[in-house]
Amino acid sequence: MEIRKGIAVSPGIAIAKAMVIDSREYRIPRRSIMASQRSGEVKRVRTAFARAIEELDDIKSAKRIEESEIGDIFAVHMRFLRDKSFLKRMTDFIQKEMVTAEYAVSTTLREIASHFAGIDDPYISERASDIYDIEKRLLKHLLGRVEDTIDHLRDEVVILAHDLTPTQTAGFNKTFVKGFATERGGRTSHTAILARSLGIPAVVALGDMSSEIPPDCQVIVDGNRGVVIIEPDDQTLEQYRLYAERVTQFASELNVLRELPAQTRDGIRVDLLGNVEFPDEAAYVLEKGGDGIGLYRTEFLYLYGGAEPTEEDHYHAYAETVRSMKNKPVVIRTMDLGADKMPHAGWHPNEANPALGLRSIRYCLHDLPMFKTQLRAILRASILGDLRVMLPLITNLQELRQAKMILRDVMEDLDEEGVPYNPDMPVGIMIETPSSALTAGLLAQESDFFSIGTNDLIQYTLAVDRANQYVSTLFSSAEPAVLRLLRGVIQDAHKARIGLSICGEIASDPEYIMLLLGMGVRTLSLAAPMIPEVKKIIRSVSIDDCGDLARKVATLDSSRQIKNVLRDAAKEILPETY
Ligand code: PEP
Ligand code: MG
Repeated sequence: MEIRKGIAVSPGIAIAKAMVIDSREYRIPRRSIMASQRSGEVKRVRTAFARAIEELDDIKSAKRIEESEIGDIFAVHMRFLRDKSFLKRMTDFIQKEMVTAEYAVSTTLREIASHFAGIDDPYISERASDIYDIEKRLLKHLLGRVEDTIDHLRDEVVILAHDLTPTQTAGFNKTFVKGFATERGGRTSHTAILARSLGIPAVVALGDMSSEIPPDCQVIVDGNRGVVIIEPDDQTLEQYRLYAERVTQFASELNVLRELPAQTRDGIRVDLLGNVEFPDEAAYVLEKGGDGIGLYRTEFLYLYGGAEPTEEDHYHAYAETVRSMKNKPVVIRTMDLGADKMPHAGWHPNEANPALGLRSIRYCLHDLPMFKTQLRAILRASILGDLRVMLPLITNLQELRQAKMILRDVMEDLDEEGVPYNPDMPVGIMIETPSSALTAGLLAQESDFFSIGTNDLIQYTLAVDRANQYVSTLFSSAEPAVLRLLRGVIQDAHKARIGLSICGEIASDPEYIMLLLGMGVRTLSLAAPMIPEVKKIIRSVSIDDCGDLARKVATLDSSRQIKNVLRDAAKEILPETY
């Protein structure tokens, strides 16, 4: 038995067999062979192709895939694999260069991929990522490694990986993937956020792990305490089975709160909205008692589909979401691509500091056709319900004005075409940088609402990469600098009488709810599975108590003291989770 401690990022307990995914890039060294070995290597390439085709056939026949958009991606892969000239390029390479099958496959495919990536046609350049995927699939068969087999799972598993991309996580089939644990990552990495949205227990930042784990061994992922136990002994397994039952029972007790309002003991109403990545999560938000959607991360449409979404793709996703929410508010955030949310390798220029680079609203303002396509779809869907648009990572007034000018251009185009939209659709911004927090008073004059994205705000205020496990202990919502910025933004929004919500992960952390209420926050947007627990806290406290706590916290000068005070207060209200 081995116990590993990491960061708990998505609550719940998972007990299942391990499935180790090696998602690191393969690096294939050039190895020469003798002339007599050439036919053997050619045969190995042919076998790898045959296995890859068989594998794709299997995936295609699994109903889930056939019906989904990713079926199209696999169809493209299949076309390449069945193309005889494609195979011939690799076998010719072996004959001529006298190298191993692995080297021939990797070198030839990377050449083709970089050729595609350099072509000035988005459809063709995007095929580069398909070629990289095919390379991985063929190498997996040549090297005999388990990878990407999560596509056709038949048994319940716990996924163990070096790291997972948000796209991989979004593709997990919840029926079989009971939990996951990764060596890398942080609480606010997008993979962690997705795990919470999907309700999959997860622990990240475990350090070097997956290479030492025997395949198929039993693993426990404790997403409440941030613990992973590999090959647990019988006693531990039994204890965890009982604990898992208690956790499930507590969750069903919380579900009783579904129909009750999120209202403090002294009658102050708080709006609890959901954070979503896909339209079908809207129903889940309602099921958990959410009052609307406060953050729709639309970039996942791009990340998961594998190709740039068309106006119709956008429109259908937004229309479906707004219709499902039945006149409850839906805040659509424009695409927040870049940094850790890259659609595929080679999509973006290589940047030394992607978090400080061409990301989010900057990328949208750089690629106006992409931005306008999305804005058209949002405006068209705005007549279907209470839809609001939100611009991410605004750092100054000029950027906000520029984005609003583009929005007006798009409105004019729609006017000319006679396409209806809501001209009064509210336009809000995310406060995610110290710059926007410090100038919130100015920005408030030209924004209909603010939503504070604490994940990025903390990252940029404390200069701590939100996804880097080496500095994860420095990433803290309780730092006095962060709390000062929060207080300032809340006051500026109140002064300007505009809406204010918090949609970063702090809004789903039970230990911070009283503090946020005490600071004047009345709208929280969080992962749907956490809504009942946050509601329970709200219904157990009075605003006076929250105000006292916030005043006390304001007198403390260290994050450690603040955390202790907040933890003690939360423990009194929710002893079940401690
Ligand atoms: C944030 O930064 O707090 C936020 C909600 O946006 P994202 O996590 O998608 O960057
Ligand atoms: Mg953000």
